[in-house]
Amino acid sequence: MTERKVRVRFAPSPTGALHIGGVRTALYNYLFARQHGGEFVFRIEDTDSNRFVPGAEEYIIESFKWLGIEFDEGVTFGGNHGPYRQSERRDIYKKYVQLLLDNGKAYVAFDTPEELDAKRAEIANFQYDASTRMSMRNSLSLSKEQVDELIAAGEKYVVRIKIEPNEDVCVNDLIRGEVVINSSILDDKVLYKSADELPTYHLANIVDDHLMEISHVIRGEEWLPSAPLHVLLYRAFGWEETMPAFAHLPLLLKPEGNGKLSKRDGDRLGFPVFPLQWTDPKTGDVSSGYREAGYLPEAVINFLALLGWNPGNDQEVMSLAEMVQLFNLNRCSKSGAKFDYKKGIWFNHTYIQKKSDIELGKLFMPIVQAHGVEPEFDKVALVAGMMKERVNFVSELWDASKFFFVAPTAYDEKTAKKRWKEDSAKCMTELGEVLASLEDFTPHNQETVVMNWIAEKEYHTGNIMNAFRLALVGEGKGPHMFDISWILGKEETLARINRAVEVLK
Ligand code: GLU
Repeated sequence: MTERKVRVRFAPSPTGALHIGGVRTALYNYLFARQHGGEFVFRIEDTDSNRFVPGAEEYIIESFKWLGIEFDEGVTFGGNHGPYRQSERRDIYKKYVQLLLDNGKAYVAFDTPEELDAKRAEIANFQYDASTRMSMRNSLSLSKEQVDELIAAGEKYVVRIKIEPNEDVCVNDLIRGEVVINSSILDDKVLYKSADELPTYHLANIVDDHLMEISHVIRGEEWLPSAPLHVLLYRAFGWEETMPAFAHLPLLLKPEGNGKLSKRDGDRLGFPVFPLQWTDPKTGDVSSGYREAGYLPEAVINFLALLGWNPGNDQEVMSLAEMVQLFNLNRCSKSGAKFDYKKGIWFNHTYIQKKSDIELGKLFMPIVQAHGVEPEFDKVALVAGMMKERVNFVSELWDASKFFFVAPTAYDEKTAKKRWKEDSAKCMTELGEVLASLEDFTPHNQETVVMNWIAEKEYHTGNIMNAFRLALVGEGKGPHMFDISWILGKEETLARINRAVEVLK
């Protein structure tokens, strides 16, 4: 057999915001596709009209745009396997449902919900399968004439797969190995409903994976129970030869305790579970997103990549290009991955350190402007670069550095009490004069001159510098003093010294 072209897909249902687990699934598909020079398809699985949520599709597309995960083909991306929205493929599915009916691999069933409920009440653990189907109302138990009559009379029906009992069904999973189950535990799942003339997820998913020439199905563990049925569907169609390989990714688990990660964990511990902020169109409820919370897309990607996969050593910080090189389904774990959101914060901090002053300045500028100041870009970039070590999020730069942009209006009481001494006013007036006389206001020159002056006057360096800091910053924090005065500039530095002398005396 010739090597198959790698084609993978991400196939969300537009039922709301994209969960962060879905983002990881898409990321792994993307890495796998890129690594093998393959193609990545974006398909929308919207055959369940009851669960359709307006805006969800656009939200999903915008999320990947922000994250930098690119598709080659699919809804809004084009390609020659379309349409890529399942609601636009009704006629295709009808044809394939008919094919299964013609080949005796599926049958028509007329049982009403009431009839099904009655059966469930009558038989414990009722399952629609080989052991019960002949006692139900379907094209296997009724005559051809009866069936034709019912359909002609407009009776609603479904099409069910006819599962042969007692066969081994083997799912070959690239992460989990061979999973074998007996077909008798499966029920004759509904593949199509005449009521809305739409297929169910199972049929549409298989037909599309086949027609779109998907080579690998990489998806969340929650789909593992459906996999045997999917294998049987490939068999029923006679498509075993081109059946994709499966890889079911481990669950994302709660940061603490047991069980799978939920939105409530995020709300409780204060981290988002969605890539972008999402407003529920029905309730108006707003859920936070990584983008709005101030995460860098590179950090989110790096964090997610390591939730269920590792490169085989302890390297943690990787660019997308490096991940494409290193990714390997063999190194994906079977067991769930704890969603250590604090690690996500650490990644964000790490990626902020990697940004240039100019990149950070661009991110910080709008935050500065939102506080009503309009400084020059160069200053914003310089401050961002100088203060980045102290923050996990760009938004935190404001609190860490606002004294660069607005003069203190008050002086921290505790600091003032401790650090503004008897002679501070006199010393600061003198310092003002020393600084005023400087032509060269670079940090180095300021420092040399000021240190000489302190030595000459036999002042206490700590006392002078503490009072100086209080005057410029308003409290006891901040970076190197002469960096602060240099960035503020001579005029502003002198003004702040004068004001402190006046206010603190
Ligand atoms: N529509 C399914 C979902 O929402 C796709 C599952 C699959 O990848 O087969 O995740």
